[in-house]
Amino acid sequence: MKPLIVANWKCNPTTLDEAREILNGVKERMRDIEKVEVIICPPFLYLSYWVEFFTKKEQKIKLGAQDCFWAKKGAFTGEISPKQLLNFGCEYVIIGHSERRKYLGETDEMINKKIKATLKAKLVPILCIGETEKEKKTGKTFEVLKNQLKKALINSSTHQLINLIVAYEPLWAIGTGKPCHPSEAKKILLFLRKFLKKNQILYGGSVNLKNAVNYLKEAGFDGLLVGGASLNPKEFVKIVKNVNGS
Ligand code: PEP
Repeated sequence: MKPLIVANWKCNPTTLDEAREILNGVKERMRDIEKVEVIICPPFLYLSYWVEFFTKKEQKIKLGAQDCFWAKKGAFTGEISPKQLLNFGCEYVIIGHSERRKYLGETDEMINKKIKATLKAKLVPILCIGETEKEKKTGKTFEVLKNQLKKALINSSTHQLINLIVAYEPLWAIGTGKPCHPSEAKKILLFLRKFLKKNQILYGGSVNLKNAVNYLKEAGFDGLLVGGASLNPKEFVKIVKNVNGS
């Protein structure tokens, strides 16, 4: 399986022109990338632009969303359903990002509903799990991760879960410029492997040009979830190229 690099643009950029610029910048530089799977998750608003931008043939880069609702359709103001995303050309969706858990009050129960709905719709969910700094300092990391996984995946069939991707994203490393050291991340990966034998497991949290390859080579992750650095097409594609050539 190819390593996977997922770009999470979060609530950026503020204009469609800027979004175009980033996409153009990525597309122009992606020519010789054959060994890495790249997924870009822009805000919902820019997904339509994406469809115009990448013809099916050149779709080297895949499309993901940053969230979705659990119902198929109906009276759910402001929400986007897995089916709508799929019909639009999306293949992946990030679920349970810590920023949604923190700022929007997303609970494990809501995340579980979203996971089940995305799997049912045949979208690939990228489930984010991770501990806070306090939980890490008090030795609760494994317990927290196990709990998050268990609660997110409850009542999902083993058969469907084959398609699940999990991203280990320690909260203290997200957007802080303080990444988890690959040797430390490796211990977490080995722990998660006990429960996720066949699933791709990604690392996310202050990934940059210098450290990206180490999470794959040194720690053994199957890919990366990149936030801040994915908004700079030059840096992002260099990360992809480094992984491609590693
Ligand atoms: C993220 O948004 O999931 C993330 C890992 O962000 P950053 O790379 O900016 O830490």
